[in-house]
Amino acid sequence: MGREQRSRGRLPADARCYLCGNPILPDEKWDRDHVPPKRVFALAVLQEHSPNLEWLYTHRACNRSYREDEEYFVVSFAGHVKTATATAVMNDIHRGAAKGHLVGLIKDVLSRFGKIIGPTAERTFTWDSARVERALWKIFRGIYALESSTFLPEQWIHPMWLVPPHTDPSTLEGLAWFPAVRDTQPLAKYGAVFDYKWIGLKTSENVRFHAMAMLFWDGLIVATIFHDPTCPCGECRLQHQPVTCS
Ligand SMILES: [Zn+2]
Ligand SMILES: [Zn+2]
Repeated sequence: MGREQRSRGRLPADARCYLCGNPILPDEKWDRDHVPPKRVFALAVLQEHSPNLEWLYTHRACNRSYREDEEYFVVSFAGHVKTATATAVMNDIHRGAAKGHLVGLIKDVLSRFGKIIGPTAERTFTWDSARVERALWKIFRGIYALESSTFLPEQWIHPMWLVPPHTDPSTLEGLAWFPAVRDTQPLAKYGAVFDYKWIGLKTSENVRFHAMAMLFWDGLIVATIFHDPTCPCGECRLQHQPVTCS
């Protein structure tokens, strides 16, 4: 019996997809999706530490629709973060490329690397912010679903700040809410690979916000803020705002 069939037997009757919010019906294909995605961990890290990764139910189709954007995010940024856990991911990617995996994607990323010279003469690169944001928002939504058992719609407004390595993070310091997030305890169990922080806020008009920050490979910070999914203000569900690069 294949792995999929064995796990299929364990789908609870009330399982919901955290990506679309709908129930997973008995005749629908489904997956267990890891939060954060397993691909942010190098094989060596998985083997050595056997981290007990959290996961959520998804429709297979919903999950697959993010796969390319997640690969795009990892290939684009793991090589940019020069820490051990990021380098290990990049080594896996290069080993895969030798076997023909993700070769087109890697070429695309390399072609964007080194075009722009940053303020301290480092090579920087450009990226497709819509794809990166989509992959990252999925992880924020996964954290939210794991911690609160509540569906957070993809269409929820979520301005996002991304601070790549070699970049001055003072843009984040200038956000009124960011220092409070930064100074809270980290919540993930795999700090050198992935960590996150989360605080709840309330304005004087009683609008409830969530502010979250993620740290990938001890070198890439992503932060976002959004209204609580139960918010009655009616302004939380507009079009996405683009990733703001500092
Ligand atoms: Zn779904
Ligand atoms: Zn609102």
